[in-house]
Amino acid sequence: MGTKSTTHPGFHQITRRSGILQELIHDTYKIKGKLPEPTVCSHCSAVFQQGRWQWLEKPLNAHQHTCPACQRALDHYPAGFLTLEGDFFFAHRDEIVNLIHNIEQREKAEHPLKRIMAMEEKDNAVLITTTDLRLASGLGEAIHNAFQGDLEIHYNPDENLVRVDWSR
Ligand SMILES: [Zn+2]
Repeated sequence: MGTKSTTHPGFHQITRRSGILQELIHDTYKIKGKLPEPTVCSHCSAVFQQGRWQWLEKPLNAHQHTCPACQRALDHYPAGFLTLEGDFFFAHRDEIVNLIHNIEQREKAEHPLKRIMAMEEKDNAVLITTTDLRLASGLGEAIHNAFQGDLEIHYNPDENLVRVDWSR
């Protein structure tokens, strides 16, 4: 666990080496107990099978339950917050937003719970919310790798939220 964050109370700053986000278990947002298998999400048709949500043909006689990503979208309750700011960002905004969409498409194709919820302008910054912690941190790391700048990742273990701030 990293140091206590001063900018985001309740959050711990983590380093990319700490690997904490890799160890997080599957999102069980608003799912109590163990889901029966197979279960299909009635909103996005993702299938819960072999302990994880996947894009599969809808099985016969599947149970129905809203998947955590759709439930978070319905509740407007993101798991990840990615804030992008700075003169460089706004000068290269289209390029950076394209990178973000490409990564989301790739991640979502393999992991149905990894989605961008919204992208909005906010106080000279752009805020992107995601249904998945690792998507937010992964996007931050990809932007940092491609464009350098300053990247901070803060994890709140109590609420299982991640806040990622990138600026250049
Ligand atoms: Zn769903």
